[in-house]
Amino acid sequence: MPRRLGQHFLVRESILERLAAAACGEHIPRVIEIGPGRGALTKHLLPRTGELHAIELDAELASYLRNKFRDEPKLHIHEGNVLDADLAQWGPAVIAGNLPYYITSPVVHKFLDLDRRFDTAVFLMQREVADRIVATPGTRDYGYLTVAAQMICEVDLICKVSPEAFRPPPKVHSAGVRFKRRAQIPANVGEVLSFVSQCFERKRKTLRNNLRAAYGTRIDQFPEAGLRAEQLSIDQFIGLHQRLAGASGIS
Ligand code: SAM
Repeated sequence: MPRRLGQHFLVRESILERLAAAACGEHIPRVIEIGPGRGALTKHLLPRTGELHAIELDAELASYLRNKFRDEPKLHIHEGNVLDADLAQWGPAVIAGNLPYYITSPVVHKFLDLDRRFDTAVFLMQREVADRIVATPGTRDYGYLTVAAQMICEVDLICKVSPEAFRPPPKVHSAGVRFKRRAQIPANVGEVLSFVSQCFERKRKTLRNNLRAAYGTRIDQFPEAGLRAEQLSIDQFIGLHQRLAGASGIS
């Protein structure tokens, strides 16, 4: 089995059921599953949805799944790379998956970039990335990924999973995270997040240092200038960006 595709299959039924329930509740019209593998999570998602689109990169697994679920009309297997797939093509859906860990971050960003019709995602991922996503200000794990995820979604750690729950066991611990898109997201979220990324450019430096090139000495008039990015809450990032844009006449 090519390990480079992150093929660690989850075998603990209680965790699979918890992930499916967190994604779908009792029932949801449509689900997209990323990396179905041999169908372990698929089996738990199917009774909770009317239509399941599963995207699998490995041709052998895609053909194995087509055969295994040949009597299941709700399931559509799509062979391909999730990073190239248009996730909006089937209409509104919940997104779920025991992710291949080499693409966790791009998959999370791909979900965050979708529109509000895609309100929920549940991903099993490496624990270290999950910790960064749910981190609070002032902690080591708080960074750009935290702010991007939490500006757009409410995030919950739904389970912690040890390597023994997989075959073969991965080298790292894992965790399930649920993303629920917020009702209120800044209209200029892309602009705010590129500002946040500048703020975190050199994590140990103050905002004054990180923002000097873009904003010159204007940054000095703001009380946050002496802080590091990891000390700012999401509302503080939004507020500072607004005041800096106002001070420079940019709307
Ligand atoms: N869902 C299964 C389970 O829980 O047992 C398998 C999970 S395994 C961690 C990740 C799966 O994603 C593998 O089946 C792998 O082949 C597939 N995969 C890897 N890279 C992919 C990509 N870029 N697009 C779609 N699927 C991918």
